[in-house]
Amino acid sequence: MDINFNKDVYCLIGNPIAKSLSPIINNSYYKIIGKNNIYLAFNVKEKDLADVINVFKILNIKGFNVTLPHKISIMEHLDSISDEAKILGAVNTVKNKNGRLIGYNTDGMGFLKSLELEDVGVKDKTVLVLGAGGAANAISISLAKEGVKKIIISNRTLSKAKILAEKISRKFPKVTSEYDSLKLKNVRKEKIDIIVNCTSVGMHPNIDESPINLHGFSENLIIYDIIYKPRRTKLMELAEKKGYYTINGLSMLINQALCSQEIWLEVEDYNFLKNYKEIKRILEIYVE
Ligand code: NAP
Repeated sequence: MDINFNKDVYCLIGNPIAKSLSPIINNSYYKIIGKNNIYLAFNVKEKDLADVINVFKILNIKGFNVTLPHKISIMEHLDSISDEAKILGAVNTVKNKNGRLIGYNTDGMGFLKSLELEDVGVKDKTVLVLGAGGAANAISISLAKEGVKKIIISNRTLSKAKILAEKISRKFPKVTSEYDSLKLKNVRKEKIDIIVNCTSVGMHPNIDESPINLHGFSENLIIYDIIYKPRRTKLMELAEKKGYYTINGLSMLINQALCSQEIWLEVEDYNFLKNYKEIKRILEIYVE
């Protein structure tokens, strides 16, 4: 790497961050586009968050990503927050614009971008979202904004599914929203076009588990599992056996990073697809 004084510094803060793929994605991106920037990852304890933000301002760090456990607490340190991040109540990207810190959330944007790159349209579709945590929130809200017909939230803890379904109805009255448990007893499975798994079921080390069984769905079903480690989850394995089209979480992971870069660099990346494919090729070496 060419180290000189012209580098803009970007970074990730979270705890833990040791296994994060963000430095690989973002530094690969800078290399591909020929930018003399650098992206680092810092382990930040909750008690140190305010001090770290202050130092970032003093050092003129141009932007940073925020991951667990700071996605909510970061908001009190920012000067303004995008509408999308406000609805989600969580920030994963901060831009330092002349000393003012602006918060965004690119999880939903990255998810939608990944669908666009896969040529999967969501308008007027019925989508079953598994999970009701942070990722399910971002993805459901982005799907509602994009004009899906119906969203069904299905979660182990029913009360959380209800809260998210009610939030969707409140913010997007044109979208029908329902909720159920992961047993899906009240769901008309044959009407579902897309399933998005936003639970952590199937992730390392529980790689032999699937959040739902796949009986009773239509033959044109698309299954998107946002888990990226392993690249092929049990749910995807079951789906492929049935001949369903599947997408894994690497695509969303890379696209939310590229969306952060567009915010930081303030340019639309005209080679988005080419750059995405190149980063995906690099990442696949790191993720089995
Ligand atoms: P989160 O806020 O902690 O939510 C976790 C969700 O998983 C909750 O709905 C939880 O249900 C459910 N869950 C956990 N263990 C379960 C089990 N044993 N059985 C059934 N449901 C279970 O986490 P998150 O941030 O939303 O992340 C969720 C997953 O998405 C993780 O695997 C994460 O790696 C992945 N992710 C991927 C990307 C990407 O870019 N590809 C981005 C963000 C997240 P309860 O409400 O009942 O606890």
